[in-house]
Order: sequence, then structure tokens, then C-alpha cells
Amino acid sequence: MKILVAGGAGFIGSHLVDRLLNDGHTVDVIDNFVTGRKENIAHLTENSQFTLIEQDIVKEVPDKKYDRIYNLASPASPIDFAKIPFEILMVGSMGHKNLLDLAEKTGARILFASTSEVYGDPKVNPQPETYFGNVNCRGARSCYDEAKRFGEALTVNYQKMKGVDTRTIRIFNTYGPRMAPNDGRVIPNFFMQALKGEALTMYGDGTQTRSLCYVSDMVEGMTRLMESDVTEPVNIGNTDEMTIRKIGELITELTGSSADIKFLPLPENDPKLRQPDTSRAKALLDWQAVVPAHKGLQETMTYFQTFL
Ligand code: NAD
Ligand code: UDP
Repeated sequence: MKILVAGGAGFIGSHLVDRLLNDGHTVDVIDNFVTGRKENIAHLTENSQFTLIEQDIVKEVPDKKYDRIYNLASPASPIDFAKIPFEILMVGSMGHKNLLDLAEKTGARILFASTSEVYGDPKVNPQPETYFGNVNCRGARSCYDEAKRFGEALTVNYQKMKGVDTRTIRIFNTYGPRMAPNDGRVIPNFFMQALKGEALTMYGDGTQTRSLCYVSDMVEGMTRLMESDVTEPVNIGNTDEMTIRKIGELITELTGSSADIKFLPLPENDPKLRQPDTSRAKALLDWQAVVPAHKGLQETMTYFQTFL
């Protein structure tokens, strides 16, 4: 197939592109490198099945026929929410609309990378897809949460009103090689700090939880969803819920670091709990995460060591 991956120079996107090329497809990546990195796709420049289009999807998308469009384009780290809120709001809304229009025009199937953030600071744990969420539309995370919620609303209405063939994945915290070391999310921060012998920056008291999914599991879930007939949103994530303190301990043990913890204030609206209910993914896609934390974190450490 001919496949377009928006955001394909990013962390998850570049792993998806490798997988699609390995499966024998032709892949175009469109990326403006706002958070993506040339290094993530440098190994593909000689591949005749791969093309890079350096462009902002808010401004322009290719006028070409594709069989599949994966839209992963969006900054995703909370530190970007304060720095570039308008870019985030625009890519989730206008950028996604541009790709939906292309899908409508050319008959492509399109997948939207949504997020567990549509559930906000959840009052239900684990979160099933039927949960409507608890989101502050004016808070520190609102540019991202509401852009993704609007992106989902666009997606479902392009499907209903215009017959576009859509898929929606709700991605839960994903980690692995190719995350930018200065990305600001917990895994890059803790690894880079521990490897440099610096104190781990723990926001709040570290009792808030996340469930970490290794990137190969995420790509498997995403491609299964794309090739399924499931048009409802599907949570993809690992169900192994841990406190941030526990994640800090695992990383300290792995790296052999004896560094302290530096406690910093918990950012506004930081979700206290997060775990996906993956019953739908199991039932409809026969998917579940298989990479255990110790294995995924080991691979990730090897990658972060290259930056020392
Ligand atoms: P990332 O920042 O590494 O990748 C995003 C990519 O999109 C980057 O290459 C960036 O340059 C590109 N991009 C952003 N705006 C663009 C624009 N206007 N035009 C073209 N390209 C643009 O982040 P990631 O962690 O790989 O996330 C990929 C997708 O998955 C995002 O949509 C994110 O919201 C979603 N997601 C990720 C996670 C996670 O834990 N990693 C969780 C939930 C949702
Ligand atoms: N966090 C932390 N220290 C850091 C970075 C993040 O304690 O250096 C916490 C953050 O407050 C949140 C969790 O780790 O509770 C996950 O944060 P991340 O930015 O990775 O993603 P989120 O799930 O919040 O979008």
C-alpha cells in the first residue's frame, strides 16, 4: 500500500514507519520537525520506498492518493503545552482537518492518534472508552486535551456525514528508544538524570500513577487497529499501573544511580491516576501489551546511554 504518516519523524511515528516499510509498503512522511528529529529517520534516506516531505500539516498536505493515512502529528510532552499551545491547538484541529479532507478526496482510510488525555484527570480507574472524562478546558493541559477531543469530534463527524473511513486510537503513556532526551516527559527526564548522576525531578509526592507501554507494543496495536473494521475509539496501552515513585526506583536500580530525589510542585491538572481498560482491544483486535517493564526499560536505557 501507499501510506502517509504525519508526524513520522517523531518517537512513535518513526517506529511505525520502520514497521510499515518492513511490511513492504511505500511510506511518505510529512513532518515539520517541531518536536521530531532527523536522527529518527536518518537510516531511511537511502530507502527507495521512503519519502520525506518537510511541511506543516496545518499549512499544506500532499495532493496525492494514499491507501492509508496515519495522523500522529502533534507535540505530546506537557512542557510543550506551555511553550507552543497555538501550534498544538492548530495541528489537532486544522492539521487533522486537512488530512481528513485528503482522505475524503482520495478514499484513503485515516487513523487519528488520540490520547488518554481525553479522559483528563479521571474519576474512573481504569478508563474504558465509554468514559467521557474529566477535563479542564482552560487549564494548563487544555491546549492538548481539547485539540485531541476536537480531533476526535472531527473524525467521527467526517465518518458520519462524509463517509470517510476512520480509525481512532487512544494512546496511553508510551516510551522507548528515539524519545528526545530533552523531551521533558518522565522517562527521558529520569533516565538522563539518573545516567548523569543528577537528582530525579519528582513532581508532587510521586504517588500519581501511569501505565507504561513499550513502543513495539504500541505499533502492533496501532497497525492492528488500522487494518481492522473497528471505527470506535480503542485504548492501546499497558495495564501495569505504577506510581511515579516506583518508576523512579526502577530507573535508579537499572542505571545503578545513587542520585537523590528532588521534589518539585505537581503541575496543574496533572492526572492522579491512569490505566487503560484494554478489554476492547483484546476483544476486537486480539491485542494486549507483551513487553514487560524491565525489558522495555533496559532497551530504553541502552538508547539514552548514547547521549552521554
Ligand atoms: P513526538 O513529538 O515525538 O512526535 C510528534 C511528531 O509530530 C514530531 O515528529 C513532530 O515534529 C510532528 N509534528 C507536530 N506538529 C506537526 C505539524 N503541524 N506538521 C507536521 N508535523 C508535526 O511525539 P510522540 O510521543 O511520538 O507522539 C506521537 C503521537 O502520539 C502524537 O499525536 C501524540 O499526541 C500521540 N500520543 C503519544 C503518547 C505517548 O506517550 N508518546 C501518548 C498519547 C498520545
Ligand atoms: N513527572 C515527574 N518528573 C518529571 C517529569 C514528569 O514526576 O521530570 C511526572 C508528571 O508530573 C506526571 C508523570 O510523571 O505525573 C508523567 O508525566 P509525563 O510528562 O511523562 O506524561 P503525562 O502522562 O503527564 O502526559
